[in-house]
Amino acid sequence: MGILIENATMVQFHPAKVVRGTDMYIEKNRIEKIGTELKASLKDIKVDRIIDAQGKILTPGMVCSHNHFYSALARGIVADIPPSYDFVGVLQNLWWRLDRALDRASLHASGMVGALDALRAGTTAVIDHNASPSFIRGSLGNLKGAFEQCGLRGILCYEVTDRNGVEGRDEGIEENREFITGQESDTVLGAVGAHAPFTLSDESLEMVAEVVSGTGRGIHVHVSEDRYEPSFSHHQYSLSPLERLEHFGMLDEKSLIIHGVHLLQKEQDLLCKHGSFLVHNPRSNMNNAVGYNARLIDLSNTAIGTDGIGSDMFEEAKCAFFRSREERRDIWPDHIMYLLDNGNRILERYFGGTFGRLEPGCTADLVLLDYDPPTPLGDDNAAGHFIFGLSARYVDTVIVNGRVVLDEGRFPFDTEPIYREAREQAARLWSRMNEIKP
Ligand SMILES: [Zn+2]
Repeated sequence: MGILIENATMVQFHPAKVVRGTDMYIEKNRIEKIGTELKASLKDIKVDRIIDAQGKILTPGMVCSHNHFYSALARGIVADIPPSYDFVGVLQNLWWRLDRALDRASLHASGMVGALDALRAGTTAVIDHNASPSFIRGSLGNLKGAFEQCGLRGILCYEVTDRNGVEGRDEGIEENREFITGQESDTVLGAVGAHAPFTLSDESLEMVAEVVSGTGRGIHVHVSEDRYEPSFSHHQYSLSPLERLEHFGMLDEKSLIIHGVHLLQKEQDLLCKHGSFLVHNPRSNMNNAVGYNARLIDLSNTAIGTDGIGSDMFEEAKCAFFRSREERRDIWPDHIMYLLDNGNRILERYFGGTFGRLEPGCTADLVLLDYDPPTPLGDDNAAGHFIFGLSARYVDTVIVNGRVVLDEGRFPFDTEPIYREAREQAARLWSRMNEIKP
């Protein structure tokens, strides 16, 4: 039982390694063997599927380390949205109205569109942060259904916040706890979601911390995305946002700290001290004009996410590179590939095992790219090919947890009804948004 991939050019982008004419045998959810002419050595084993990868490159799947599938139906939005002149205005006028308008059907449609988009782009795992204040309980199970139907790996959480009152806060806390303790699967796990320290009182943070310590999962939270947050935190609590999280015992190796554009040096030191991950979302930061912190990409524990702008990590990595180059001439493509690969370290901390490596024993989350390089491709320039040559249009076949989920560009089910349903849900969602005041 297993999948045999023959004659691939294996390309691991970080650490860079290019090996031509290689076979890979996958059994269950792991890479079992790598070598040449493996078929002969497998003669006593029933191979379910042989994939001819001649002329294609085989790489580890990509990880989107921060996303919001709930926003997947916001693209091209037509609704009565007042102009927003600062970051909090963007939240109040757009996102905090869109999320309140979501219901069970529109969230499921969002999840399906998000999962299909991710796999088409060669992204095999998405770490999602959900907000749907009118449909909190059951929302993570709803999203999990979309991840599993499409075959995408994920880590899900619900963003706890005070902005929807005590009842909304308590439901969010219970949704995280219940999902982690009763609804996880082999490929979809939970984290403990929180919106941001600036929308959580000390009492609320203490309640979130109880779920973190009780479940052994990490907090997944936005921190200092805008310059407003550290000033507010110092004024209100006499501590920086990360010092508050540390005070409640929520910084550890499973913590996912999102954005951190305005982190102080002492907060970056806290991240390193606790081994917590920072997730950089360059396109979102540019779109919201919240600023840029060129030092973040120097941290060894920085990964990359999209913050809801799809799940195409080719695009996000290119933007991370170009935005950093605008500030610093000492950044090279392999710096960015290191950050992208770090998403696998997050998966390892949650799922256990090895991710993102082309070697026996590693989890089989893989992508075949139909890319015929027009210039020589080797260890020393693989990262350059990624940033300047490759894109999602080369994605051919995607394997998640040892299962083919996208086969030569096609899903094993008809996607047309899914997109038709999504368009209907989007129109209803935008209409409900218009009834919600900023
Ligand atoms: Zn976000």
